[in-house]
Parts: sequence; C-alpha cells; structure tokens
Amino acid sequence: MTCQKCGAELKIGAFPFCKGRQSDHGEGFAYVHGDECDFVQTNGLRHPRRFRSKQEWDLWRKQNHYEVKHKWDGTDRQTMENVRILMERAFGQSSEPEPDMHISTYTGELTPQEAAKYAGK
Ligand SMILES: [Zn+2]
Repeated sequence: MTCQKCGAELKIGAFPFCKGRQSDHGEGFAYVHGDECDFVQTNGLRHPRRFRSKQEWDLWRKQNHYEVKHKWDGTDRQTMENVRILMERAFGQSSEPEPDMHISTYTGELTPQEAAKYAGK
C-alpha cells in the first residue's frame, strides 16, 4: 500500500497518519518484560528470602502489607540545611555572623588571628 500524501510504501505496523513526510510512517515496537528475576529480600524479614518471580514477589508483598517506595528526592528540611551549611563553609558567604571560636591547645588558647591563619583566611 502506498501513502497518497507522501508516496511512502506502507508496511504492516507502520504509523498510518501522514503530515506529508515519509519519515512520519515509522514502525511501532513492542516489548515484553518477562516474569523472571533473581534477588534476595532482606528488608522486613528475620530470614532473607530469595525471589525468582516478580509475580511471586508482588503477591508476597501484598500478603504482608509491604509496598515499594521509590520516592526520595533528597530535599528534606535537614538535608537542605546541611547543604546550606556546607556551601557557606566552602564559599565563605554566611548570612550569619561568624561565631567566636575558642580553640584550646596544650600551650594555651589561640587568638582569633591565629585561628584565622590556620583556617586559611
Ligand atoms: Zn505519508
């Protein structure tokens, strides 16, 4: 069969709708994901259990009221506070005044000037 708009030869599985270009008729693909797997479940179990079937694992999770949680975007409040602290340390731009440092050694306490010298400032 030939496309009336662009003249492309249409094969079984080709995209049927045309905007006038032969490249519009790409062929579709189908993928089949098998049920096989091989891993050992350790979380939530006293003894590790090996699964070789995804369906078996799904059924086991449902029976035991477990669910898979993939969501973790790393933006919880404590993580963002830690990021802020690390960025301020790395680039020395703090919105808060530097705290007074009291650094004791065996020979006495460092002056603020000595502490800054050792900190590379
Ligand atoms: Zn066409």
